[in-house]
Amino acid sequence: MNESLHKLMEVEELTPETFVLHFERNGFEFSPGQYVVLRDPETGEGREYSIYSSIHDNRLSFLIREVEGGDFSRLLRHLKPDSEIAIEGPRGFFVLDEQVLSGHPVLFIATGTGISPFHSFVRSYPDLNYRVLHGVHFSDEAYGRDAFKPYRFCLCTSRVEAGEYFGRVTFYLKENPVDPKTICYLCGNSGMIEEVSGILENYGISPENIRSEVFF
Ligand SMILES: Cc1cc2nc3c(=O)[nH]c(=O)nc-3n(C[C@H](O)[C@H](O)[C@H](O)COP(=O)(O)OP(=O)(O)OC[C@H]3O[C@@H](n4cnc5c(N)ncnc54)[C@H](O)[C@@H]3O)c2cc1C
Repeated sequence: MNESLHKLMEVEELTPETFVLHFERNGFEFSPGQYVVLRDPETGEGREYSIYSSIHDNRLSFLIREVEGGDFSRLLRHLKPDSEIAIEGPRGFFVLDEQVLSGHPVLFIATGTGISPFHSFVRSYPDLNYRVLHGVHFSDEAYGRDAFKPYRFCLCTSRVEAGEYFGRVTFYLKENPVDPKTICYLCGNSGMIEEVSGILENYGISPENIRSEVFF
């Protein structure tokens, strides 16, 4: 098992519930889109987190939401700079293939913190031919929006009219057909992934071109 200790360099607050933890990278190698297990070195308790930073950054960063009643995300919320966490990995196959890296149109669809691997993709590979749909409740949850080119990014806010589209990503997709040749990457909660996959398949996108990472 590949596990190493990393010192926390900075806690970046984004919203009252959401924050980015920036750790020393210490030569940790990964492919954009992969995740790791962050572990409390004392108890061995851990959870999976997608890597938010790019392959070019000298820090290893994670976008985290403190969930109500959640033990591990609460522990991460209270980490202080200079404390250490064990990082196990990298893991996972939610990575870009040669076709996408060569400019084939790709659609990234995320809800909430599911934007994290897409942030790593576009920061690692600035020339991708991508569009992003990010589904959130409120506009302050457009985490890391600056990393995406404005004309490639569509924020779907479901609770207030504040983004590019008022409503859930599923409604957006039903109103805006997707070209059947598009390769699609989905990341977030399982309900969204199931519903969106059905919509995309109805547009003629083949199941092997619908790739997903389920957070919960
Ligand atoms: C492959 C993978 C990658 C992941 N990447 C991330 C990531 O980049 N950022 C991140 O914040 N979480 C991510 N998660 C979720 C993370 O592993 C934990 O489940 C989460 O931090 C909650 O842990 P907990 O112990 O605090 O609460 P738990 O008691 O384990 O979970 C409580 C409940 O919180 C809900 N929940 C879990 N994660 C989220 C979330 N992100 N947003 C809203 N509700 C949630 C679920 O309904 C869950 O049942 C990922 C999960 C997987 C499997």
